[in-house]
Amino acid sequence: MLRIGHGFDVHRLVEGRELVLGGVCIPCAHGLLGHSDADVLVHALIDAILGALALGDIGQWFPDSDEQYRGVSSIALLAKVMASEDLAGWCVANLDATILAERPKLAPHIPTVRATLASALGVEPSCVSVKATTTEGLGFTGRGEGIAAHAVVLLQARNSAPVPAS
Ligand SMILES: [Zn+2]
Repeated sequence: MLRIGHGFDVHRLVEGRELVLGGVCIPCAHGLLGHSDADVLVHALIDAILGALALGDIGQWFPDSDEQYRGVSSIALLAKVMASEDLAGWCVANLDATILAERPKLAPHIPTVRATLASALGVEPSCVSVKATTTEGLGFTGRGEGIAAHAVVLLQARNSAPVPAS
């Protein structure tokens, strides 16, 4: 039994905030604005996981009107989703994500991001693909006004492993 999900998220880049992507703090003069740590990649990933099981979206699970989520680490929210009753019968088969950002250069950080996400999802880094691209100066990402992220996740039912023939 397989289920596929897609997530998309955008946050505005501002001065005076830390830039957190995929649970990793990345040196940058700007950071993403949001109620939580505004980790746009993890938000897209959470929405992909919830989407795969038709469980709503991140805003329904962790409302930004709720003070307990102010400044919260999005990786901690991902851990909550993975540990929830709803996910009990499922594991992540693989993940493919794309970050759209004009700056900073993300390539040097990709291995750490993959390892961090793999650890949070309980899978090997080989199951976690994270790519970064610019949009060639076009649109809000191209102008450096924000960062966007897409994520696609495949979930596999834990009981769907082939049963050995007797
Ligand atoms: Zn978000």
